[in-house]
Amino acid sequence: MTKGVLTIVSGFAGSGKGTVMKQLLSRHGEYALSISATTRKPRKGERDGVEYFFKTKEEFEKMIGEHAFLEYANYVGNYYGTPASYVDEQLNLGKDVILEIEVQGALQVKKLRSDALLVFLTPPSGAELERRLRGRGTETDEVIRSRMRRAGEESELMSSYDYILINDDVDRATEELHNLIRSQHLAASRNEELIGRIRRELGVCR
Ligand code: 5GP
Repeated sequence: MTKGVLTIVSGFAGSGKGTVMKQLLSRHGEYALSISATTRKPRKGERDGVEYFFKTKEEFEKMIGEHAFLEYANYVGNYYGTPASYVDEQLNLGKDVILEIEVQGALQVKKLRSDALLVFLTPPSGAELERRLRGRGTETDEVIRSRMRRAGEESELMSSYDYILINDDVDRATEELHNLIRSQHLAASRNEELIGRIRRELGVCR
């Protein structure tokens, strides 16, 4: 069976990637979304095992020691990491897996899995980013300032991504993301079996 496509979606906090991901999963049931572990405290309404696996620092560091993560990073004072077992299990079942993670982790995965598709989601402007962060109303001023600074740092790594998606319309961004993943399935490097069969049928190899 052909392995699934591993897609990494990153974007500044406030890029609307959470909304795009929700819409992608509700419109297109075929994707497996990896649930990360984190040491940050749950926000209102977040449940353990749904949005994240909420861990203490000690628990998280124990998992690092056990090599349980495909990647992990420190983001604004907290650990975030992708449990490796789920990702590999789903890819081996032929499922397309999506990781919604920040830039340091994304680049770690790209080093390990060169066929991973890296997509960076951005609002159309810096001003729009700040407006969205403030509109969310769940974070203090200090956290917003630190997330804007962080966005500046993250923007340095945008050029390392395969594709940049502008999220000024959630429906359009969702469908563009879906189409990008679909087209990965057509990559020649993922279709060696098909190429071999056609070549055999043409009598040019056995
Ligand atoms: P938040 O605290 O707003 O849920 O997430 C903060 C940042 O951490 C976001 O950019 C999110 O994509 C990223 N993130 C979530 N899970 C992971 C993970 O498993 N690994 C890494 N490297 N980043 C993650």
